[in-house]
Amino acid sequence: MVVSGVAATAPPIPPPFTSLDVERIRADFPILSETVRGGRRLVYLDNAATSQKPRQVIEAISRFYSGENANIHRGLHYLSERATAAYDAAREKVARFLGAGAPSEIVFTRGTTEAINLVAQSWGRSSLRPGDEVLATGMEHHANLVPWQVVCEQTGATFRAVPITDRGELDLEAFDRLLSDRTRLFAVGHVSNALGTVNPVRDLAARARARGALVLVDGAQSAPHMAVDVSELGCDFFACSGHKLFGPTGIGVLYGRQSILDAMPPWQTGGDMIERVTLERSTWAAPPARFEAGTPPIAEVMGLGAAIDYVESVGLDAIGQWESDLLSRATELVGALPGVRLVGTARAKAAMLSFVLDGVHPHDVGTVLDDEGIAVRAGHHCAQPVMQRFGLPATVRASFAFYNTPDEIEALVRGVERARKVFG
Ligand code: PLP
Repeated sequence: MVVSGVAATAPPIPPPFTSLDVERIRADFPILSETVRGGRRLVYLDNAATSQKPRQVIEAISRFYSGENANIHRGLHYLSERATAAYDAAREKVARFLGAGAPSEIVFTRGTTEAINLVAQSWGRSSLRPGDEVLATGMEHHANLVPWQVVCEQTGATFRAVPITDRGELDLEAFDRLLSDRTRLFAVGHVSNALGTVNPVRDLAARARARGALVLVDGAQSAPHMAVDVSELGCDFFACSGHKLFGPTGIGVLYGRQSILDAMPPWQTGGDMIERVTLERSTWAAPPARFEAGTPPIAEVMGLGAAIDYVESVGLDAIGQWESDLLSRATELVGALPGVRLVGTARAKAAMLSFVLDGVHPHDVGTVLDDEGIAVRAGHHCAQPVMQRFGLPATVRASFAFYNTPDEIEALVRGVERARKVFG
């Protein structure tokens, strides 16, 4: 539902913030002291699109290229051995970070999009048949919709989607109705990037698996903000992106349950993914190598490892608490502005706020905010079915990270007020 904002009658009393040494944290992120648009202090509230990088990540990448660069798994020379060991150690780190059973359940990809396409084209293309169904939801990012629509077209399977309620939550009765013995895979976002809804994936995964379906969780928006344990979630696949996790672009992760990965055919072929090649035929290496054809993004893997170290040093519980305080403050202050309607008011939400301002196009709100040095996203957020569900062309989305501050929320509030005055 689109909830009407109410005019503020009295200044809201800000709730107390939990403690996080945010100034010390901000000092680790060089870009946060940049100025933009003719000297304005940057207020970066577009973290759901991509997050900023601490110097520890930037330095890890620079260190690799300055003193350690070599291809992995190929040479017997010193640098190659070191790069290979560091690459393998990063895989172990990711496995631990996500609660995987073993490093061999972690496949490095270019990002969430590639991880989901890998599952669709490897598992889906080889397993789905006419009569089978893939169930997704109406709040998925296009990355967790289009690959399933395509593989259903390729195999004759049927694509279905769980509708969402006016609050922006999944319609659980519809989920139970749509789930059947024909459902081969349930694809669900852990956190909606358009609404901020946190889905009850553990419960949904248990229900889907009880009907014999595999479960894929799109964790692009959850892994950076909450502790994830894939064995506790009970999913078969989990995908996330390094660049949203304070790491570099060009690196992502697919967790896959070992027995399922073992049975999946390759989806890209070439070097490093084979066991033996003759001119007649080839056989495949075991996972994860089977799914990592060609030279992988080695420096980016080093950067991802450093990002995980950084996030763990701050602590995901502390991050979650800080971001939840930011969300409460933003919901209260922005939601109270005249003409503002919040889009997505789920009971469980991650730290992002989607909204529209009556009579003002979201792009115009975004332009006014940008003028003030405030970076938000205005658009359909690669979730056009969500916009269609709410009858909107676009929303403004402010998305927070643990380096954002209460002051920055106040800057957002002033910017939205200004947009109303300029365009309203
Ligand atoms: N899934 C969700 C929920 C997202 O928010 C995004 C990116 O915004 C993606 C998938 C795609 O991630 P990437 O572009 O890093 O592959």
